Amino acid sequence: MKKIIIAIDGYSSTGKSTVAKRLAKALEYIYVDTGAMYRAVTLYALECGFIDDGSDNFNPLIKALDAIVLRFEQNPETGQSEIHLNNKNVEHKIRTLEVSSYVSKIAAIPEVRKKLVEQQQQMGAVKGVVMDGRDIGTVVFPEAELKLFMTASPAKRAQRRYKELMERGEEVTYEAVLKNVQDRDLIDSSRDVSPLVKAKDAMVLDNSNMGHEEQFQRIYQKALEIINS
Ligand code: C5P
Repeated sequence: MKKIIIAIDGYSSTGKSTVAKRLAKALEYIYVDTGAMYRAVTLYALECGFIDDGSDNFNPLIKALDAIVLRFEQNPETGQSEIHLNNKNVEHKIRTLEVSSYVSKIAAIPEVRKKLVEQQQQMGAVKGVVMDGRDIGTVVFPEAELKLFMTASPAKRAQRRYKELMERGEEVTYEAVLKNVQDRDLIDSSRDVSPLVKAKDAMVLDNSNMGHEEQFQRIYQKALEIINS
């Protein structure tokens, strides 16, 4: 059967990874969470003390980029692919509000994007991949056979993320989460390199009032249509 690339972009906390994981499972494709890669680089920068002074001097991080090795590995218990930073599983550590509050700044550094985009293109070279992020359909795989752009109201997205963080035991306020979602959208959409924009040929999915099942079915049917064409 023909294998395709499915590129899923969109705003923060629009449920991209939930639908991407399910699609990958249904199609027996590889799932690549590119946000996890930018988060892991941010975690590295935080742990090395490269971004604790509030300044925008990213030279120490840029110099250290070659020392950052990212790899996805399947967790045998859950079957989910999880990110490893220099051989350590950091899947949980990268999801804190602290990492979220710095990641968009780090993701705007051209050298960081160059390194990660190259890696993402290698991972998808064999096709049969579902990749989610902000620039997948525009920069990483502009020739992807199926492109989606996911959106939802900021309040809905903040509610979802807040619930997720609370379930994980993080002490956060709804207001802080909403602010983070809005700040990230602004930085992601207005940066010079690979800003978050809808690809011209992307299918738009506003899931403010749409459940997981309906979203999945719409995308899955579309993917099957393309695969079988
Ligand atoms: O998808 P997630 O919300 O985990 O992504 C975290 C951040 O990583 C985004 O807010 C964005 O700044 C950055 N990102 C990006 N390009 C991608 C994926 C994520 O700039 N392809």
